[in-house]
Amino acid sequence: MNILEKYRSQELVEKVLAQIRKIITRPWAIMEICGGQTHAFMQYGLTDMLPKEVELIHGPGCPVCVTSLELVDKAIAIASNPNVIFTSYGDMLRVPGSNQDLFSVRASGGDVRVVYSPIEALRIAEENPDRQVVFFGIGFETTAPSNAISVIKAKAQMVSNYSMLVSHVCVPPAMRAILNSSANRVQGFLAAGHVCAVMGYKEYEPIARQYHTPIAVTGFEPLDLVLGIYETVKMLESGVFEVHNAYPRAVTRDGNKTAQSIIEQTLEPCDRNWRGIGEIPMSGWKLKKEYQNFDAELRFDVADIKTKESEICISGLILQGLKKPFECPAFGTLCTPQNPLGATMVSSEGACSAYYRYGRK
Ligand code: SF4
Repeated sequence: MNILEKYRSQELVEKVLAQIRKIITRPWAIMEICGGQTHAFMQYGLTDMLPKEVELIHGPGCPVCVTSLELVDKAIAIASNPNVIFTSYGDMLRVPGSNQDLFSVRASGGDVRVVYSPIEALRIAEENPDRQVVFFGIGFETTAPSNAISVIKAKAQMVSNYSMLVSHVCVPPAMRAILNSSANRVQGFLAAGHVCAVMGYKEYEPIARQYHTPIAVTGFEPLDLVLGIYETVKMLESGVFEVHNAYPRAVTRDGNKTAQSIIEQTLEPCDRNWRGIGEIPMSGWKLKKEYQNFDAELRFDVADIKTKESEICISGLILQGLKKPFECPAFGTLCTPQNPLGATMVSSEGACSAYYRYGRK
């Protein structure tokens, strides 16, 4: 059995599910922070296979969904400038701004291009020295090192027409914000394996202790997901408030030191607005002073953007685990992946899109 067969083996998944059934004695509400895990649970039918005592609450770990409306509107304003080539990952093009999205800018003649990495955007800048090239740098800790490298390279190679619209967010402050909320129902977390592969899981240990909330670092294959649930239930049932690593083939406690040093070199913590949730103190990263010449927000005159959120969309409540997508009156009617009203219906990691795609009404 190769590694993929092992982690997708129905027999092994059912063995772990049997172990969970054996130890569980009462209902527990567990949040999978990462939208990729939300999709994987549904895609593999695991939500229906888990014991009924396990309630999955979907968290805010979808970078497309939480990128603030203000930054989406700024992206649209910058992309509308005829001297700009605006580059972005594909999902962001369909995220609704206050009045339009990046696709509409492209349809109106704007030069908006989908790229697969910030290095590709940097190459476009080198090939087009007479144009400004902007990369929409969204994401959690996972994408921060590669985005940061593009800025380091741009500085070293003096590519002065390259800049980045930075929208980086970090997981631990969001976990604290959820746990501090008076409406919180989360009793345990599945931490996102790819984020922990970069950052390690040391910074989660004080959260588990302080809030009496166990955390299992969890991967993305079916066996990873049920192992994450098993570790969390085991800690909940025995009153242990620790971090267990259920994804040791990719994650160590200290994480990837090289990636962390790239982040430290270029980025520093800042307050950040999360779409639908609001400002979370020190929950994001911005470029350090030495790299501010590459900050698109400073390079372009976009300070006075006025935003207007959809009055119907309740994605903020969904991202905090307070509502499920099918509780939104627009779900599957006014709001579909073809005509999204909110970012959680656009993104391949968004909870609304997962419920729509896998028929969870
Ligand atoms: S279904 Fe659409 S409108 Fe409703 S919360 Fe989700 S994204 Fe927003």
